[in-house]
Amino acid sequence: MSQSSALEFIRQAHPAPTPPDRRTAILRDPGFGRVFTDHMVTIRYTEGKGWHDAVIGPRGPIAMDPAAAVLHYSQEIFEGLKAYRTADGGAVMFRPGENARRFQKSAERLAMPSLPEDLFVAALEHLVSIDRDWIPEGDGSLYLRPFMFASEVFLGVKPSSEYLFIVIASPVGSYFKSKDSAVSVWVSQDLTRAAPGGTGAAKCGGNYAASLLAQMEAAKEGCEQVVFLDATERRWIEELGGMNIFFAFEDGSMQTPPLGGTILPGITRASIIALARDMGITVREEPYSFDQWRADAASGRLKETFACGTAAVLTPIGTVRSRDGNFTIGNGRSAAQTEKLRSTLIDIQRTRAADPHGWVHKVF
Ligand SMILES: *Cc1c(COP(=O)(O)O)cnc(C)c1O
Repeated sequence: MSQSSALEFIRQAHPAPTPPDRRTAILRDPGFGRVFTDHMVTIRYTEGKGWHDAVIGPRGPIAMDPAAAVLHYSQEIFEGLKAYRTADGGAVMFRPGENARRFQKSAERLAMPSLPEDLFVAALEHLVSIDRDWIPEGDGSLYLRPFMFASEVFLGVKPSSEYLFIVIASPVGSYFKSKDSAVSVWVSQDLTRAAPGGTGAAKCGGNYAASLLAQMEAAKEGCEQVVFLDATERRWIEELGGMNIFFAFEDGSMQTPPLGGTILPGITRASIIALARDMGITVREEPYSFDQWRADAASGRLKETFACGTAAVLTPIGTVRSRDGNFTIGNGRSAAQTEKLRSTLIDIQRTRAADPHGWVHKVF
């Protein structure tokens, strides 16, 4: 077995956890990513020593040297997944092993050490258990954010010899303000997100930094999200800043861009492909061009487009804007295929439906 099996988590008591009445008030309308639970997990890595000092303790600021490598060369990766409250008072996570494996792949691309899968999942379980009272009831969930960064104090350019892995948790409501209405997207024809050979398939902060200017442009155009095209031809649809994209057609089939190193392999994306195929829907993982998107929307061959990811689950796209003009998908609102897949996925995640693929991971 990996070394992690031997790694014990040290528990540090919280001197002043949030009072229950205050927590209840926060959980009434948590928003997204603004409020946090009382605890966090930290695990250190040192070259030659491996992973050590696993701690579950009070959440708080971390001391950082101004020469810490991450502040200069951005060696940082992260994950995002949710824990849900179940009807029997328990808690589950959705496919945490997939996040653990993707975290390892991201680490490899960023020349960082691999965190064993069982240690990654154990860290999540510890945090969800200790902060169980922070899991919202109803539509909310507890968003878990594992991340790792280069902590060596050195300005030379090389992979760091020290890292800090942390997990924090944030109770969340719905990601978009009105989850039932479709969003508008801006197609970025100048700025790209990821190039062949780059870090597009790794979940690293640097990709997000590179997407923000396009996101700002989108906001200026009155759009909620950006759609990125491929960096080589500026022709093929890739994904959004933090979500994958699907197209649903008149003949009942669906399509999504293929993973080829420039697209983040979303766990929601993989789950939707599996669920759609369970339903007998043909799903093609093939390139789809911006021109074709516009033409198919105009002809009516394309019925629906949605974005997907852990934070927002499935989000219908109603309006597409670009410097070449705007177009609408269907009637500009969410439609049948999107709604069916969304409710099927959410019902599995929340243990309201059978889990034929064994995706749900019970915490307690
Ligand atoms: C995290 C992420 C996604 C969605 O991945 P999920 O595993 O479904 O949450 C899609 N695109 C990018 C760029 C991402 O960072």
